[in-house]
Amino acid sequence: METIEELKDTAAHAAGTRIARLSVCAYKIPTDAPEADGTYEWTSTTLVTVEADAMDQTGFGYTYADTATATLIHDHLANVLSGLDAFSPQSAFLAMRRSVRNLGREGIASMAVSAVDVALWDLKAKLLGMSLLKLLGALRASIPVYGSGGFTSYTNQQLQRQLAGWIRDGIIAVKMKIGSHPECDVDRVRAARQAIGSADLYADANGAYSARQALHMAEKFVNFGVSWFEEPVSSDDLPGLRFIRRRAPSCMEIAAGEYGYTQLYFRRMLRAEAVDVIQADATRCGGVTGFLKAAEEADSFGIPLSAHTSPSLHGHLCCAAPRARNVEYFHDHVRIERMLLDGALAAQDGMLKPDLSAPGLGLNLKKADAEKYLVYRGDRA
Ligand SMILES: [Mg+2]
Repeated sequence: METIEELKDTAAHAAGTRIARLSVCAYKIPTDAPEADGTYEWTSTTLVTVEADAMDQTGFGYTYADTATATLIHDHLANVLSGLDAFSPQSAFLAMRRSVRNLGREGIASMAVSAVDVALWDLKAKLLGMSLLKLLGALRASIPVYGSGGFTSYTNQQLQRQLAGWIRDGIIAVKMKIGSHPECDVDRVRAARQAIGSADLYADANGAYSARQALHMAEKFVNFGVSWFEEPVSSDDLPGLRFIRRRAPSCMEIAAGEYGYTQLYFRRMLRAEAVDVIQADATRCGGVTGFLKAAEEADSFGIPLSAHTSPSLHGHLCCAAPRARNVEYFHDHVRIERMLLDGALAAQDGMLKPDLSAPGLGLNLKKADAEKYLVYRGDRA
């Protein structure tokens, strides 16, 4: 196994391309209305951004996390990266993963690694003067999205208005939250179906139901054409997911995976035959490097992959990932990326199509617009 010193040695010949500076910020952005799902509620979202410099180029990466993720990048990961070769995001990934062993590799630490990894891949693509998708190798030019929101804090009218808006924009699948008030869920699903005609309807319980309760709901939801049931039980409950997957109506797929932080997590979920579609989130599971590992796991099990949120990032990655099916066009992140990122990917006719002529991810933070949300800033040379 490579030591961090060995990883630094590999960069010795590349003195001119060492990572020179790392800058991290956290921005806390209020939601446009109170939001809730089956097991959580929130009124703001924190965007953590990373800039990594080498040879007069700056790579940009981000995650949706907590300010603690930003301080971990500044106080810990910046030291680890010092002296590493900007042309080898893989060596930085290994060094960062190793360095957070005693902190716990999942959660905050993995989100920190993810944001930096994205910045380093963006930097490498810019150093080579090409788009990230071209660097990774495109398997397709565009990828479908599904509209996602439908929070349990919405009235039925708000729910219908939001879902119908996506259909009007040419998006062919939408997802709603369920599980906060199980007694209302069938009514809400019926209202959603009335608003979207024959479009695909997904429902996400965020682990709110017990296994038998979830199965009972699946038997009701099928009457309204729900074709995707996400986290019917906790995604930690692999036997529970498998129980529902085996017994749910055959037209209903079971999905989970958004809390995966490591390659092994995805392999375990797939090995347990727990899902029909596996989800992965590059802003949690290790950035570009980690997402491609998750995609390889999905491919090896012959299971489709769906990207969780962060559309401006996942549009690129899903065009390079085998078996990628779609990207979650999540209301909060679409809104934040449109507000604060120049070059944010917007769905056209229900598809995300990365701009191959823009270097890297083609994203630039609108710093003046973001400033009013700033809650943390750290710079390390
Ligand atoms: Mg979900």
